[in-house]
Amino acid sequence: HHAERSTVWVGPQGAQVPIGPDTFTFMAGPCAVETPEQTLAAAHMARSAGATILRGGAFKPRTSPYAFQGLGLAGLRILADVRAATGLPIVTEVVDARDVPVVAEHADMLQVGTRNMANFGLLQAVGDAGKPVLLKRGMTATIEEWLMAAEYIAQRGNLDVVLCERGIRTFEPSTRNTLDISAVPVVQATSHLPIIVDPSHAAGRKDLVVPLSRAAIAVGADGIIVDVHPTPETALCDGPQALLGNDLRELATAVRRLPPVV
Ligand code: PEP
Repeated sequence: HHAERSTVWVGPQGAQVPIGPDTFTFMAGPCAVETPEQTLAAAHMARSAGATILRGGAFKPRTSPYAFQGLGLAGLRILADVRAATGLPIVTEVVDARDVPVVAEHADMLQVGTRNMANFGLLQAVGDAGKPVLLKRGMTATIEEWLMAAEYIAQRGNLDVVLCERGIRTFEPSTRNTLDISAVPVVQATSHLPIIVDPSHAAGRKDLVVPLSRAAIAVGADGIIVDVHPTPETALCDGPQALLGNDLRELATAVRRLPPVV
């Protein structure tokens, strides 16, 4: 391990959630914010399962321009209301440098997605925003390129960066992306930054989310970020990878059984 690994704190003063070597942080929520009811229901699911940070996309970076692009500012307002109702800090994606101030106003942590990992203007803008950043690995980025992307944020004086392995593009079609689980110890050997795993976006299939989460726990990741949805069959984004019911209970049990970090 890198000699001194960092802890990044997320949320308001007095109620901050740590992400780092002394803990395992479980983040969960809907892929996309759709309605106040759906977001609140997903937040309750996340919290009951033991999650301490709520995820949810208001600005969605969709592959197709015809797919649901997210509610934008209305989605940020829903997230802020759900945070007030549940006490869960919020992580949400920002896809455009021009939106960084408004997203930073509403969210506790700014997410940069796989498609924007090398959008250097956006990285500099989130570096200036004064909020912790969740930096996902570009789906075709090497670990070196990913760490250099983190440097763009750090160079602006923001050292509160958490890395997220979310799968890389390979020749294998049975999963949407191939979860590069070895990225976790490789990063931990060379960087002080916390690193979490997103099994939902890696796999694209809910049946793989619990096994891949177990892999993340076993390999020593600092946390996971998982999609949950009260009604995946009606989800406007990535329904097939959203957990609920027994799968979510199984995941909650796996996370609860984690031995304390020594
Ligand atoms: C997401 O987490 O909502 C997302 C779009 O993930 P990724 O950028 O990893 O595809």
